[in-house]
Amino acid sequence: LPTSMWVGDMVLLEPLNEDSFIENLRKRFDHNEIYTYIGSVVISMNPYRSLPIFTPEKVEEYRNRNFYELSPHIYALADEAYRSLRDQDKDQCILITGESGAGKTEASKLVMSYVAAVCGKGQEVNKVKEQLLQSNPVLEAFGNAKTVRNDNSSRFGKYMDIEFDFKGDPLGGVISNYLLEKSRVCKQPRGERNFHIFYQLLSGASGDTLTKLKLDRDFSKYNYLSLDSATVSGLDDAASFRTVRNAMQIVGFMEDEVQSVLELVAAVLKLGNIEFKPESRVNGFDESRVKDKNGETIEMCELLGIEQSVLERAFSYRTVEAKMEKVSTTLNVAQAYYARDALAKNLYSRLFSWLVTRINESIKVGLAKTRHKVMGVLDIYGFEIFEDNSFEQFIINYCNEKLQQIFIELTLREEQEEYVREGIEWTNIEYFNNAVICDLIENNQNGILAMLDEECLRPGTVTDDTFLDKLNTICAEHQHFESRLSKNSKFLTDHSLPHSCFRIQHYAGKVLYRVEGFVDKNNDLLYRDLSQAMYKATHSLMRQLFPEGNPAKVNLKRPPTAGFQFKASVGGLMRNLQTKNPNYIRCIKPNDKKASHIFTDSLVCHQVRYLGLMENVRVRRAGYAFRQPYEPCLERYKMLCRQTWPHWRGPARDGVEVLLIDCSVPAEEFAYGRSKIFIRNPRTLFTLEERRRA
Ligand code: ATP
Ligand code: MG
Repeated sequence: LPTSMWVGDMVLLEPLNEDSFIENLRKRFDHNEIYTYIGSVVISMNPYRSLPIFTPEKVEEYRNRNFYELSPHIYALADEAYRSLRDQDKDQCILITGESGAGKTEASKLVMSYVAAVCGKGQEVNKVKEQLLQSNPVLEAFGNAKTVRNDNSSRFGKYMDIEFDFKGDPLGGVISNYLLEKSRVCKQPRGERNFHIFYQLLSGASGDTLTKLKLDRDFSKYNYLSLDSATVSGLDDAASFRTVRNAMQIVGFMEDEVQSVLELVAAVLKLGNIEFKPESRVNGFDESRVKDKNGETIEMCELLGIEQSVLERAFSYRTVEAKMEKVSTTLNVAQAYYARDALAKNLYSRLFSWLVTRINESIKVGLAKTRHKVMGVLDIYGFEIFEDNSFEQFIINYCNEKLQQIFIELTLREEQEEYVREGIEWTNIEYFNNAVICDLIENNQNGILAMLDEECLRPGTVTDDTFLDKLNTICAEHQHFESRLSKNSKFLTDHSLPHSCFRIQHYAGKVLYRVEGFVDKNNDLLYRDLSQAMYKATHSLMRQLFPEGNPAKVNLKRPPTAGFQFKASVGGLMRNLQTKNPNYIRCIKPNDKKASHIFTDSLVCHQVRYLGLMENVRVRRAGYAFRQPYEPCLERYKMLCRQTWPHWRGPARDGVEVLLIDCSVPAEEFAYGRSKIFIRNPRTLFTLEERRRA
């Protein structure tokens, strides 16, 4: 490639095709240029090593500069977003997408730290900034884990609104969290770990603390901790524990709150060690009994202030309410293990939500300060395609599908609006719209989530397979008669499907889902006997986490299903994002080895395709590839024309006109907007650039 093809903005790429696109990314990556633009969208390649481009000097360099003046950088996007928030009073959101390990979380932290560095000063403001930044290590400790794809993978979705006053000083923030992958608490896939906090606590806490928590430093003592990858090279759990403790303090946790939180973390580990044995009864049924050789149950009860008999009873019996009558049935050993794991998962995920609520209490904006501007930062789990995909992947992928939808809607809308604003004629562009896939999943009548809910609520025997039958009947129905664009064509049925699976054509690729566990995970039921036992604890945080265990507040209504709740919260998020001006960071993973300096074409190509980046460039180029406000344009090219050099007296717009005519740019090549010049072909710009350099 000639160096002129090495462009900072893909819009200027010539010729434009997938090969040149990838080649451009690669060339830049090889020269440590990890950022590339598509207009105002930032593509970010994960360098997998620390680059010297995030220094305070860099912050200064990008501060108050225009997007195109310097080489592409995430700071330029952050600066642009912050300035339009401060100066034009436009609420902003930063949408960060990409697959697991692509660098979303790191990007979100870079944006936050940039904004923190350039906004406001003073003691009060600095305290707010510190608290906002320090919420990250706390949430990462409890919500991230080592996975095959990423040593620090976010296992929850996070959206944070940072609020500013009219001067642009930060006031505080609000964090929303989306569905923590709680199945990880009890079981981790091969080569993966449980959430970081468990290992951090065991490695980093003082001997004294561990004694108080009745814990042993040895990971291998705990059933819930996988051993094949307990220590991860490059991760220092003990040091991280100190960081987390410190962060909790800065965020505003009281010492006794931290203690309570750690007690509950310990309780989860203890729970995992409780085992059961069958006790034969006269009628031939096996009834479960807690097997307690090593005193785990006693210790857990001591930690939480629960009577041992209460806990043990809750693991042996469950009360079923049938027609206003309470009937006690026994649990067998398998059911007792199931109940134990359900309790551990619920305890942990509720603790996580409590942490978010608690952090919000610290960082929320006081009532007195009402008028404010908002910058939202979204860092959500990326699209996942595994060999075995379950309910969690289904939910995660649905969320990504919605984000893609909003990307399509907003980029096109933004593009369209800009033309209208600038008074330039607009023609519609064809693009792939994934709305049909969203509809297949979320339609209230016959979407997959609605059918799953219907099945979960139906009386009679409900299994994962009855759910699948229903799906197959309804989604596959009429398939042959409907057009290719119908949503049914996104629900793929063919004879090669393995047993108990269904397949969806997502925008990012085909994904095979195994229905096993869908009904159960969607129901997300915890036997009431267990929540009542937890509510009897003297441990006040524990009680707080199980309010439904309060006998005075018996609520016979079923809690909403996991799918229903997720759909509602994602819907709320989308409505929120739609009111803001979007800024996009599209993260790309250069290789599957977590290695620096390796760029695997096929892998990058796949991501470029499903992120729809080529389409993005085409949309951007369909009308006018390049646009720039008159002043900076004149400033940059005035040296090319005798009438504009060195000073142009008069409106910048006229100066640009004189200049373009003088440079013999054909009239059909540009259009005059109200505040910007629009240039159709990137070649034109190259020519100008080359003449400038000559
Ligand atoms: P997930 O969806 O699993 O949460 P993610 O997209 O959030 O993935 P990150 O955790 O941000 O991925 O990045 C994965 C790892 O890649 C980081 O832990 C870090 O080692 C490296 N990395 C990402 N971005 C950068 C960067 N800008 N500079 C240096 N290293 C980076
Ligand atoms: Mg992440």
